[in-house]
Amino acid sequence: MSDVRSSSPAEFRQLVQAFFAETLPASLDGVSGTINRAKAWRAALFDAGLAGLDYPVEHGGQGLSAEHRAVWADESTGLIPREEATFGISVGMALPTIRDHGADHVRHQFIPPGLRGEDVWCQMYSEPGAGSDLAGITTRAELDGDEWVVTGQKVWTSGAQHSQYAILLARTDFDAPKHRGITMLILPMEQEGVTVRPLVQMTGESEFNEVFLDEARVPKDWVVGEVNSGWQMAVALLAHERVQTGVASMGQNSNQRSKSGRVPIPVDQLVELAQNRGLNHETTVRQGLAQLHTGESIVGYLRQMGCHPSIGKLWRTKQGRAAADLAARLCFPASPAWSDDQEEEDYFAYHILNCRGMSLGGGTDEIQRNTLGERALGLPREPMADKNTPFSDLPRN
Ligand SMILES: Cc1cc2nc3c(=O)[nH]c(=O)nc-3n(C[C@H](O)[C@H](O)[C@H](O)COP(=O)(O)OP(=O)(O)OC[C@H]3O[C@@H](n4cnc5c(N)ncnc54)[C@H](O)[C@@H]3O)c2cc1C
Repeated sequence: MSDVRSSSPAEFRQLVQAFFAETLPASLDGVSGTINRAKAWRAALFDAGLAGLDYPVEHGGQGLSAEHRAVWADESTGLIPREEATFGISVGMALPTIRDHGADHVRHQFIPPGLRGEDVWCQMYSEPGAGSDLAGITTRAELDGDEWVVTGQKVWTSGAQHSQYAILLARTDFDAPKHRGITMLILPMEQEGVTVRPLVQMTGESEFNEVFLDEARVPKDWVVGEVNSGWQMAVALLAHERVQTGVASMGQNSNQRSKSGRVPIPVDQLVELAQNRGLNHETTVRQGLAQLHTGESIVGYLRQMGCHPSIGKLWRTKQGRAAADLAARLCFPASPAWSDDQEEEDYFAYHILNCRGMSLGGGTDEIQRNTLGERALGLPREPMADKNTPFSDLPRN
């Protein structure tokens, strides 16, 4: 590990190359199942000193320079196992928010095991009455001695069924205006008082869940940021989420087939599909493939440049839909009749059905455009008549 920290960028490049060529394949050899493979990959990464490159050393990271991180981006593109998506919420969103805003004891407790992939996390923001209008949440957290007692309902909670922790938004002051009475808490999932009910999607998978909280308990000091500063924390985490669900998720290994709603079908796989179906000489198919290839290349450049998170999110959504639409043209209506590869059919059918959800999860396309208009272009903000009214006085369903 010390090799990594003291390495020059050129030495670091060799270490990263050796990791992907030798250490990682050996660590994944014989490991099956998405969660097991995800955990094996993260453990190998952490143990090689390659996790948390920009995290301070005292919090389990490597404290490396921007130059080292550029080397990592260069050498890791296309090689990260697609099972990394299991940690999209912990590594991609919760841990950077804890790193930037958590108290020291929270950082010490959660960052090292989180970077090593020992725990899976989920994100409990959305509620039946609060999605785009997230500040309208009504899940309640009240202090009882050394614990918060949490009651309410969350929905669309991705991965809750596999998670050990949730990053939770709860209302801690109903008399404050809606944006000012919210707190971000870390909720242990494996306890009485937390009931997870999977929702079956049209893909046949159950990736997200309803979660019922009935006097669930959270230690008093498992707060991220300050009590009642949860809105600022929520916005900070959402910025990481848009990076994660935008261009970051597209640097993963395109040779692997993964049913994940966060990653568009890689173009290489569509080229192979077109060849297998004997459609690779059709002009419109070739045009579609060329457009997608261009889109994927642009994503690569956006990753290197570090674009506004909402641009990345909108781009990934557009790429995901276009890739799924081309897959649908290649797969249907007649081709399943002569395909004898059921696994292939299932894989593409999943992406064709799932891609619409990309424009919702992590904030809808309309909300991304509002964000770009207001924060990037400086257009007038949407009117917010309820901004200063105590939440308890607001009309609710
Ligand atoms: C695949 C997937 C995974 C998800 N995972 C999670 C998760 O892990 N954790 C979690 O907390 N949530 C999760 N969500 C929920 C997601 O964040 C919400 O679906 C999203 O924020 C939209 O909220 P809503 O569904 O309540 O729609 P609504 O907010 O009711 O929106 C309905 C429609 O109105 C539009 N709209 C609303 N407000 C405005 C406005 N101000 N301007 C313009 N148009 C507007 C929206 O764009 C949308 O088209 C997930 C959703 C999906 C699809």
